[in-house]
Amino acid sequence: MTVRDKLTAIFADVTRRNPGEDEFHQAVREVLDSVAPALQKHPEYADAKIIERICEPERQIIFRVPWEDDRGEVHINRGFRVEFNSALGPYKGGLRFHPSVYLGIVKFLGFEQLFKNALTGMPIGGGKGGSDFDPKGRSDREVMRFCQSFMTELYRHIGEYTDVPAGDIGVGGREIGYLFGQYKRITNRYESGVLTGKGLSYGGAQVRREATGYGAVFFAEEMLHAAGDSFDGKRVVVSGSGNVAIYAIEKIHQLGGTVVACSDSSGYILDDQGIDVALLKDLKEVRRARIDAYVQARPHARFNAGRPVWEVPCQVALPCATQNEIGATDAAALIKGGCVMVVEGANMPTSPEAIRAFAAAGVRFAPGKAANAGGVAASALEMQQNASRDSWTFTHSEQRLREIMRDIHDRCHATAEEYGMPGDYVAGANIDGFRRVAEAMLAHGLI
Ligand code: GLU
Repeated sequence: MTVRDKLTAIFADVTRRNPGEDEFHQAVREVLDSVAPALQKHPEYADAKIIERICEPERQIIFRVPWEDDRGEVHINRGFRVEFNSALGPYKGGLRFHPSVYLGIVKFLGFEQLFKNALTGMPIGGGKGGSDFDPKGRSDREVMRFCQSFMTELYRHIGEYTDVPAGDIGVGGREIGYLFGQYKRITNRYESGVLTGKGLSYGGAQVRREATGYGAVFFAEEMLHAAGDSFDGKRVVVSGSGNVAIYAIEKIHQLGGTVVACSDSSGYILDDQGIDVALLKDLKEVRRARIDAYVQARPHARFNAGRPVWEVPCQVALPCATQNEIGATDAAALIKGGCVMVVEGANMPTSPEAIRAFAAAGVRFAPGKAANAGGVAASALEMQQNASRDSWTFTHSEQRLREIMRDIHDRCHATAEEYGMPGDYVAGANIDGFRRVAEAMLAHGLI
């Protein structure tokens, strides 16, 4: 049996054993499509069934989350924590609160997280969790009650040496605060390192909030530098308007690019003078408003309801919203609009058809597991500071983030060259991440 045949058989098994989990299948397939050359070079990985073991999470936890809304009505949501792989360190990865969350989403995110965390070179394994709870339109008290109920089950599974959750879509500083408070209350332990993304007043780290967006832009900057180019004067489109998008836009502007459009699930805004980041922060972080409110303060800008932001011509695109937000039609629109580089700030925002279209058109492409690793890398820095009861300055933390992103870029770039696929960041990221996990798993024996 050739290596390719083996991989095909493993993938068939993954789809059979995990029915209906399309996003998980997609994430597994993308990695399996890349790692054949590494398996050819390292037959010991196949002998130890490393791929089969990696595709099966170490532990999957599903639980009931009952809570009461402000009118006294009872709601039942479903909570998840998938502890994917602890070869490199305690399980690490965010919690997502969004109505679309089900086991297949949590598993795709946990699988991606494992390789992403490996790429950072830091001692963190892979995990992910969340709930189908929809925070949209909920009061602070309702969100608090939900978080307390969620943690009342989750606390028994996590810990600074076991599993360290953080935020993702729908989980930001407010939610992490409520989750931390409840963990502390139940366990009677001030265990700072049990969650990351904490507020600066109780053990949080500088630059964690900015890190995913800033990190993706640092990665993009390295790609531009590798081609003798820079952000200066570039017209950029960023999708989304949440935590990742906001800080990506901020950093692009600092580096001389202009972000002319961003979006939410209702549509996109086009502002040819460049998105006003302070206004966006006020809308999204303080007022939790929809994006159309932007044009009230900036009347020259336009709101396009229900339209894909990818129809806006640009040179560089950063998808920072959610999975599969760039389909084949969007990719065609981007290519037609002159886009030469796509860098994923979100997790798996580009569909396989769109990735193929970019490759065929010579559009440089960076996968999220490399380009958006800045968030989790800053989480690992937060854990480091918590463990030593230290706190670093903003400047120092940003410098560390920049170095980490440069390292990840250089490793993906070098690995792609080593395997005869220069410029293929997908292959570089998958192979390098996979090798790191595989080596640690081999060292630990059959567990
Ligand atoms: N949810 C983020 C991610 O997708 C951050 C996870 C973390 O900081 O643990 O990488």
